[in-house]
Amino acid sequence: MGKIPVTERVTGHTELIGLLAYPIRHSMSPTMHNEALKKLGLDYVYVALEVDSESLEDAVKGLRAMRFRGCNVSMPNKQRIIPLLDKVSEEVELTGAVNTVVNDNGTLTGYCTDGIGCMRALSEEGVVVKGTKITILGTGGAGTAIIAQAALDGAAELSIFNRKDEFWDKAVETVKKINEKTSCKATLYALEDQDKLRAEIADSAILINATGVGMKPLEGQSLITDPAMLRPDLVIHECIYSPRETALLKLAKEVGCKKALNGLGMMLYQGAAAFKRFTGQDMPIEYMKDLLF
Ligand code: NAD
Repeated sequence: MGKIPVTERVTGHTELIGLLAYPIRHSMSPTMHNEALKKLGLDYVYVALEVDSESLEDAVKGLRAMRFRGCNVSMPNKQRIIPLLDKVSEEVELTGAVNTVVNDNGTLTGYCTDGIGCMRALSEEGVVVKGTKITILGTGGAGTAIIAQAALDGAAELSIFNRKDEFWDKAVETVKKINEKTSCKATLYALEDQDKLRAEIADSAILINATGVGMKPLEGQSLITDPAMLRPDLVIHECIYSPRETALLKLAKEVGCKKALNGLGMMLYQGAAAFKRFTGQDMPIEYMKDLLF
């Protein structure tokens, strides 16, 4: 990414959009949104606001008082913000996490655009989710958002794998909700069951890695190391975008997988979905790709 440009476009009319998170300084979101706003000549400014869980309630009151148009939300606030909002979208009912809040004349609505971003990254590559079976590794923030959106978008079956770690109990709950509220059949398996993993991938059209395995401090590692578990017609979606090519994507290349995507598309399209909700406008995707990729 190039230098952050100095903006000269803020006036007395400019509307505010914030990002509430801590830590926050590493985020690409302010650059992405401000560049898109500038390109389209929209009179908003997007600012990073260092807000931890202790100051979240005051910060949300502040957003209302100062009539922010909305905000993005990241760690540690994605779950904690829900009781402070007026409404949430259907994907939030499933994920229990919010990454985008829109303020419509004092009514705050929470959305979760990470799963929407992943689904669009797939569809932009011509990958159809409706009616397919997907294997997903990971049930943290990204994995939960993806399984919820895939179910809402009509995936027929989801085989979800996670370690029996601190994410397990919430995953059990999410899978139960998906099975109750959507027509998708979701099943949670222990990642330790490698025979099951092999069988489920063999039966899936898409494999998604939504764990941190493959990025620092686990860079160079992959949950899949046996090339026999992949095949050329299996679509691979890696949520990680740094590094651009993870060990899983290298393996996919060796096997000759025709579609193997890193997480840059998901990152861009989750931002675009938030941008649309804030401004009503489509983010200029090709321009953003030139700038960010
Ligand atoms: P999180 O902390 O909420 O969840 C981490 C997940 O990784 C859990 O499922 C955990 O069980 C699993 N995990 C961690 N270490 C593991 C190991 N050694 N073996 C097996 N499983 C392990 O994190 P998150 O926010 O869900 O992020 C997950 C990944 O997705 C990260 O790499 C993150 O960079 C990426 N991500 C990408 C985007 C995007 O827009 N492309 C958005 C969000 C997250």
